Amino acid sequence: MLKKLFKSLRSPLRRAKHSHSTPEVLSNRQHPIHRGDISRHAIGVVERLQSAGYQAYLVGGCVRDLLLDLDPKDFDVATSATPEQVRAEFRNARVIGRRFKLVHVHFGREIIEVATFRANHPQDEDDDPRAARHESGRILRDNVYGSLEDDAQRRDFTINALYYDPGNERILDYAHGVHDIRNHLIRLIGDPTQRYQEDPVRMLRAVRFAAKLDFDIEKHSAAPIYKLAPMLGEIPAARLFDEVLKLFLAGYAVYTYELLVDYGLFGQLFPASAAALKHNPDYTDTLIHNALANTDLRIQQGKPVTPAFLFAALLWPALPARVLKLQERGMPPIPAMQEAAHELISEQCQRIAVPKRFTLPIREIWDMQERLPRRSGKRADLLLENPRFRAGYDFLLLRESAGEQTDGLGDWWTVYQDASDSERRSMIRDLSGKDDGPAAPRKRKRSGGRRKRGADAGTTKPGND
Ligand code: ATP
Ligand code: MG
Repeated sequence: MLKKLFKSLRSPLRRAKHSHSTPEVLSNRQHPIHRGDISRHAIGVVERLQSAGYQAYLVGGCVRDLLLDLDPKDFDVATSATPEQVRAEFRNARVIGRRFKLVHVHFGREIIEVATFRANHPQDEDDDPRAARHESGRILRDNVYGSLEDDAQRRDFTINALYYDPGNERILDYAHGVHDIRNHLIRLIGDPTQRYQEDPVRMLRAVRFAAKLDFDIEKHSAAPIYKLAPMLGEIPAARLFDEVLKLFLAGYAVYTYELLVDYGLFGQLFPASAAALKHNPDYTDTLIHNALANTDLRIQQGKPVTPAFLFAALLWPALPARVLKLQERGMPPIPAMQEAAHELISEQCQRIAVPKRFTLPIREIWDMQERLPRRSGKRADLLLENPRFRAGYDFLLLRESAGEQTDGLGDWWTVYQDASDSERRSMIRDLSGKDDGPAAPRKRKRSGGRRKRGADAGTTKPGND
C-alpha cells in the first residue's frame, strides 16, 4: 500500500542541474517512510552522532527497501565522524575492516554499521596511498574520507545513494535514485565501465539487486558486464565467497542464477559448472535450477539452508567427467570419485574460498551418493543413523528430479524411512540383486554384501540415460 502511495506521488522536484552538490529533497509528505518503520537502535545511533555535532543519516539498502515497502535486511548509517570518532561515542562499538574501515555498533544481536563519508578518487590522482589502485583501475583501499556529496557519488547504484534523516524525516537524493526506484532501474552512478573496473563485484551486485527487486539493469549499466566479467578473477576468493552467499541465499536464487548465466558471470564464479552447462546442458541446468528453487522455497518458509548443500549441487554436474578421466587412467571407481571430488573442490576454492566447515559436508553429501544404493544387511539402517543421511537423501531426490535414472532409489528410501521393522526387513530381502551402485550394470547374481568392491562403485552418470 505504501508503495502505491509512493508511486502515486508526482515527482517531487525537477532534476537539479548540478546534481553532484544539490540533492533533491523529499519532505516527509513526499515519501512513505515513517520513523516507526526503522530500527530504534539505528535511529539512536544517528541521533547520538548528530547531537555530538556530526552529520549522520541512514543510507543505502534500508532507505531503498523502505521506499519499496520491503523489510530492510539491516540498517546502515553514514556519517561525517571518522571511525575513531564514532567509536568514542558508543561503548558497544568496534572498528572493523581493512580495505574499508567501518564501525559496528552492537545492540544484542542487532548490528548497526556506521561508515564514514568517503570520496571517489579520480584515476589521475593515484599517488594517494589511502586510495591505492591496481593498474586495471581496481580500487585496493578506499579510506579517503570526504563530504556527504562525495559519499553519494562513490556509492554503487543510484538507488543505493539515498540518505534519510530520521530527525526531520527528509530524504536526500543526489543521484536521482528516487526516479530510478520509480522506474525499477538499477543504474550505476557515473561511468559504468570505470565503476565496474574500480570494483568488479559491482557486476554481481547489479545482478543481485535486479533479482531481489525485480528491476531491470539500465542499458548502459548492463552493456559492459559481459566483457568485463573476467575481472572477477582479480577479486580475492574470500570476498567472492561472501558475495556468492548473498547471491544465492537471499531468496531469489533461481532468477539470480539465470541473470548470472546471461551476463557471463556464472562461469567466472563456477568455471567447472559452466563447462558442464555446455557439455550437458539439460541435466546441469535442471539440477542447479531445482536446487536453487528448493533453496528459495526453504528461505520463504523460514527454514534453514546450508551453503554446503548449495555448493554440492552447483558443483555436482562437473564431477562425472573428472571421475571418468581418472578411471580412464586406470584408477578404480571409488578412489576416482574421491580424487575427482578433491580436485574439483580445490580448484573451486581458488575462485571462491569455501571454508572447510562447508567443504567437508560437501564431500560427505557426494560420498553418500555412493552409499545410498548399497542397502543390504545392516547397511540401510546404518546409513539412516548417519548424521549426513538427510542431506544425502535430499541430494539423491534432487538428482532424480533432474532426470537421473536411479532405478527408484529415492522412492525406496522414502518408503524405508517410514516403514516398520518387519517391513524394513522385507524390503531388504526384496532387494536381492539390486544392491548395487546404479551405474553398475545389474547382474542377476545375489550380492549378499560380498561383491567385489570395485564393481559396486558407480556414481550414476548424470544425464546419460
Ligand atoms: P542489502 O543489505 O539489502 O544487501 P545494501 O544496498 O544495503 O543491500 P550493502 O552491501 O549492505 O548493500 O551496502 C550498503 C551500501 O554501501 C550500499 O547501499 C551502497 O550504497 C554501498 N556499497 C556497498 N558496496 C559497494 C560497492 N562495492 N561499491 C560502492 N558502493 C557500495
Ligand atoms: Mg545493507
